[in-house]
Amino acid sequence: MSKTSEIPYKIYLTEEEMPKAWFNVRSAMAKKPAPLLNPATRQPVTLDDLSHVFCRELAKQELDDTTDFIPIPKPILDFYKMYRPSPLVRAYFLEKELGTPAHIYYKFEGNNTSGSHKLNSAIAQAYYAKEEGLTSITTETGAGQWGTALSMACSFFGLKCHVYMVKCSYEQKPHRREVMRTYGAEVTPSPSNTTKVGREILAAHPGTNGSLGCAISEAVETAVSTPNCRYTLGSVLAQVLLHQSIIGLETQAALKKYGIEPDVIIGCAGGGSNLGGLISPFVADKLNGKSNCNIIAVEPASCPSLTRGKYAYDFCDTGRVCPLQKMYTLGHDFIPSASHAGGLRYHGMSATLSELYDQKLMEARAVEQTSVFAAAEQFARVEGILPAPESSHAIRVAIDEALRCKAEGREETILFGLTGTGYFDMVAYEKFNDGSMCDYIPTDADLKASFAKLPQV
Ligand SMILES: *Cc1c(COP(=O)(O)O)cnc(C)c1O
Repeated sequence: MSKTSEIPYKIYLTEEEMPKAWFNVRSAMAKKPAPLLNPATRQPVTLDDLSHVFCRELAKQELDDTTDFIPIPKPILDFYKMYRPSPLVRAYFLEKELGTPAHIYYKFEGNNTSGSHKLNSAIAQAYYAKEEGLTSITTETGAGQWGTALSMACSFFGLKCHVYMVKCSYEQKPHRREVMRTYGAEVTPSPSNTTKVGREILAAHPGTNGSLGCAISEAVETAVSTPNCRYTLGSVLAQVLLHQSIIGLETQAALKKYGIEPDVIIGCAGGGSNLGGLISPFVADKLNGKSNCNIIAVEPASCPSLTRGKYAYDFCDTGRVCPLQKMYTLGHDFIPSASHAGGLRYHGMSATLSELYDQKLMEARAVEQTSVFAAAEQFARVEGILPAPESSHAIRVAIDEALRCKAEGREETILFGLTGTGYFDMVAYEKFNDGSMCDYIPTDADLKASFAKLPQV
């Protein structure tokens, strides 16, 4: 690949070149992810089971593991045009800073007001809800990125949006909350006394700061007890990976324009949606023998579901209302330490990514947050973008891989997903700059206690 000097700093696609269909990576897998199970019957979920909670078209996408390309409806394509294609950037300045012969590219998803890739699925989920004639949707949000993206999507399609925001984030991130309200969402700190499950949790744990699992339970309860209302989720599910495949399809189209093939693909993994979306078309190439690239999932050492978890059926939420999923999990009762990458604090992992990892089509690395913030600052100072703490996990490993290439004198092509910006995470940067940030790694005993509570399936 000696065309280096011809490759622009940013590679864009024209509207014509933009993908017109999402790609369902499960269609390319000979061994599919295990089916979701109904929590009451422990039998594979049916379309009807799922349709009580999710809108029907999304429930269909969730269960479809054979269709390869699913056309993107025109209203969603039109919305995408406002902020897509997202730029694929050649990190010339970072390469120079590291003195590496590697070629580094990143796909930047922070160029929209929500500040992350989550808008790609939020707009699709809001669209299908509107099409079905629903009037409102509910969700939970931890750090706030998903709630923000869904608020934007709902205001675009004229839907009411009710967000249960984990109480400690509600208090610590008032600006995120206000962005959601600016887009018309109702934001309730969770646990709240607006739901039965919320009142029960408050009675049992007065003064609790809340958790994602508890906010999910409140959002689901409100969805199933409100007419014309459904629940939505911003990660983990196969439908979300499907919508996020727009990231990988655009990246592949942009790279192809210049005849570039990645040797290493890196992404941070919380519930797995951005990584799943980025790698989908490349995984298909790997399965068809057309690519030999190395895929690396990066997770926090404080919440190491792939590197230290068990591959087993588990609940997706602490309230045990959602279907059971076979995945790499730390156990639904596992409470990760209060790391600053809120978007990566999930006990499990997408079933699709879990299966790819189990089939050794992907590797995983766990990294500590101080080393993540060191990478974030090194990157920000040369590439300009202030990265989200979640995204910076991918930056850490991209830099490590570039330094390996330098040591080995190899001119490899490294691609990573830069999922978002970190403007709402300045308290975390402040801790890092003050030298008061700590790393916490769960002990084997912590994990053992949590594994003991996995359901017997
Ligand atoms: C939510 C989020 C993540 C993690 O979610 P995935 O579903 O694993 O992609 C990563 N980066 C940012 C900026 C996020 O908001």
